[in-house]
Amino acid sequence: MLHNTLNHAATMNRTLARHQALSPFHSRFTANSVAATSLLLGLAALVVSPVKECRAASPGLIEFTMGSNALLGIPIMDFPSELIVLARDGQLHTLTGKAKENIRTLDAAYQPATTMEMKVSLQKEYGREFEVVTTQHFLVVQPRGRGQRWPQLFERSHRAFIAYMSRRGVKIRRGRFPMVAVVMPDSAAMYLELERMNVDAKRVAGIYARESNRVITHDGGHLRFIADTVRHEAAHQSAYNYNVHSRIVITPRWVTEGIGQMFEPESMVGGQSGLHTRERANQGSLNQIRVRYDGGQSPEFADAVRDLVGANEMFNNPQTTGDAYAVAWAMMFYLAEREPDQFAAVLSGTSSRGTYQPYDRLARLNDFERWVGTDIDQFAKKVSWFLKSL
Ligand SMILES: [Zn+2]
Repeated sequence: MLHNTLNHAATMNRTLARHQALSPFHSRFTANSVAATSLLLGLAALVVSPVKECRAASPGLIEFTMGSNALLGIPIMDFPSELIVLARDGQLHTLTGKAKENIRTLDAAYQPATTMEMKVSLQKEYGREFEVVTTQHFLVVQPRGRGQRWPQLFERSHRAFIAYMSRRGVKIRRGRFPMVAVVMPDSAAMYLELERMNVDAKRVAGIYARESNRVITHDGGHLRFIADTVRHEAAHQSAYNYNVHSRIVITPRWVTEGIGQMFEPESMVGGQSGLHTRERANQGSLNQIRVRYDGGQSPEFADAVRDLVGANEMFNNPQTTGDAYAVAWAMMFYLAEREPDQFAAVLSGTSSRGTYQPYDRLARLNDFERWVGTDIDQFAKKVSWFLKSL
């Protein structure tokens, strides 16, 4: 269905585009969500530039209500039935009905919340059983007394992400909000928390939720069983907060999930030097491609590449979700390791599109060929040779 929709750009209205863009979270093996982000471009202009001296040009600060809370933020996108607002803590809220009508414009400029403000409000939100640990880039909410293990895991993953991207010429720009990671005591508590956030997820070890901008995971199992997922979700968070993607732009899922898959292996964040490409490979994805596509040699491989570039349907269809993640990994990993200029072009091209601008199949295919400099068949061939070398 989504597939058809994406094929008919003319019928695609902005609301639909937004729904794809805002589907609320990234998680492995759920049929939900396109990535989205670069409000940051808009936001950079709106927020970071010297708004103080030209208040009239800046969008007004507004007061709005979520549940029983009065919050401050700036409007990002005004759809006929929904208003998207960026709150001071970096959360995106969707106001509908009464909430949309009941906003108050204030005569003041938008300022992101400070780390200390956010720490205080997170402590209040999660209560006495939890502590909020501050690191250079994160606010980690965890059950009291869990030490530095989680904060260090998030810091290490993030630093490795930035180093890897920078080395490949990807333009990194620090986000305006500290990243929030929430570690619940066990999986049952995590699912309750996801329910509270209106996120419908099953059989996950953690998620990154694009609207709240938080990673949610749990401390109830052996870390090594959930570490792959945590690194995957942490990579989404790093990408969305450091201008690799934009939270308010519709980004093709093969791009966002390719990045997530790339950062699953421990070797990607372990800091070992002198690693070969082979040692950075996602073995799960590689095996999947060996089984399903003869290592990339079968004709269906190019078809899968074309499907992923043109639409998100392969992710949404439960029959092909696993294949979608694996092929997306192969495409992004090939670009990152063998054609870094093209890798950077795909990322900057996708993140700098207009706010919630619809993205149809034809535009996706055209952009891809322009950024990568080759057609799909030739590209699929190059990826399959690369996979053979692993
Ligand atoms: Zn993901």
